Amino acid sequence: MKVVILGAGFGGLRLARKLNNKAGVDVVLIDRFNFHQFQPLFYQVATASLDASNISFPLRKLFQGSKNVRVRLANVEKIETAQKKVITDIGDFEYDTLVIAMGGDTNFFGNQQLSDNAFPMKSTVEALQLRHRLMTLFEEAVNAQDEKDNNRFERLMNIVVVGGGPTGVELSGAISEIKRYEVPKDYPELNAAAMNIYLLEGGPKILGAMSEQSSEQSRQYLERLGITVMTNTILKDYDGETATLQNGDTIRTAMVIWAAGIKGNVPEGISKELTVKGNRIKVNRYCAVEGMTDVYAIGDVAYMEEPGWTNGHPQLAGVAIQQGDVLAKNIVSMAKGNTTALKQFTYKDKGTMATIGRNLAVVDIPKPKLHFKGFFAWMIWMGLHLFLLLGVKNRFSVFFNWVYKYFTHDQNLRLIFKPFYRETSRKKGEKIKENRESMVSSVHV
Ligand SMILES: Cc1cc2nc3c(=O)[nH]c(=O)nc-3n(C[C@H](O)[C@H](O)[C@H](O)COP(=O)(O)OP(=O)(O)OC[C@H]3O[C@@H](n4cnc5c(N)ncnc54)[C@H](O)[C@@H]3O)c2cc1C
Repeated sequence: MKVVILGAGFGGLRLARKLNNKAGVDVVLIDRFNFHQFQPLFYQVATASLDASNISFPLRKLFQGSKNVRVRLANVEKIETAQKKVITDIGDFEYDTLVIAMGGDTNFFGNQQLSDNAFPMKSTVEALQLRHRLMTLFEEAVNAQDEKDNNRFERLMNIVVVGGGPTGVELSGAISEIKRYEVPKDYPELNAAAMNIYLLEGGPKILGAMSEQSSEQSRQYLERLGITVMTNTILKDYDGETATLQNGDTIRTAMVIWAAGIKGNVPEGISKELTVKGNRIKVNRYCAVEGMTDVYAIGDVAYMEEPGWTNGHPQLAGVAIQQGDVLAKNIVSMAKGNTTALKQFTYKDKGTMATIGRNLAVVDIPKPKLHFKGFFAWMIWMGLHLFLLLGVKNRFSVFFNWVYKYFTHDQNLRLIFKPFYRETSRKKGEKIKENRESMVSSVHV
């Protein structure tokens, strides 16, 4: 059976690993990046606590000894189910069984101005772009302070994070630590006290998907860190200079981080009728796309209802991984022609957690019903993330970085990489701007 998997995130990669060296199955794993991204730690890359390579793992390395899994670096453009093939920017791939595991992307809800000016964080590259902007912000603020340009200074010192889910909470907590520990050391001349961090949440509470206790405690922790938490507050627009709220209030800011919306990455070729709210593809309990043959979807891009999850599953790594496990077993059974052994998917919720800052986290475990907070919850959070990271070297590097940062309150990663322009004269008098491509040449500068 020729299995083509679109996306090597938590779901697609798990599936490919479970199908590795299984008889009767040939796998092509397609992703637009040649590495797996550990999204839960993006916010630490964005706030210069971890290097991007610490949370990335090369896909080809994972399948070095594989007899049946092949990796392709390609952007999926379209699927043609009638011909059973996938169209990508490097060519077409035929399949017997297709698995869509392309995850989600930032949803700006059609607001082009917001999308042009706010910073999303759904890929390692975007986390690096965010870090770059954060670091240049302080450089510009020092300059504005020197030039006594108060308007500009105020704008540069206001950072607005939109979305009170785990990503928004974790990011604002980490930025407040930069303000507290790093800015005073790196920029002794800068008035760090003038820096304001706003966390905007449209609903009545932050961490809305977690327990009341976790929601309330995280709010207290954030406020203790000096963050202005604004619930029932919706950002209407951002033009690059002013954030306008739905109630008409404004915040002058040079940086808005958008962590408030996700939409499924549905490839062209899946008709609109097969998708539901949040642009997710409706699947049955076997992860099969309803109304299609031999096409499956797992993870964030899939929408499945089951008793206890009548509004679909949360878009979490655990769901994607567990769906990858079940689908792998079913594909192996189907490859053997044993269609009676197929298993339905049942989500085992092992709990949710969020960290707010050093020694501060909240953890909810559903069975037995438990809630942890503070230092103990923070230790659980760290242990679990280390366990889930791919690669021994990555685990070691992340652990070492965390210990180093814990004791020094400092890190050596606040580097500003810019495209390097050099003027050469090929013809006398003619100046040519040469863009030395750097890792972050696409960064907003
Ligand atoms: C900042 C952040 C923090 C998070 N924190 C947590 C957390 O703490 N705990 C938790 O459980 N979950 C967390 N999540 C959610 C979790 O990361 C997702 O639920 C999970 O990644 C979903 O897995 P997936 O396989 O469906 O998609 P993904 O892991 O997103 O993988 C999708 C893959 O598809 C590839 N792809 C997409 N489009 C194309 C294309 N056109 N062509 C080729 N390849 C493509 C992408 O490159 C990617 O590798 C977080 C998410 C974010 C963004």
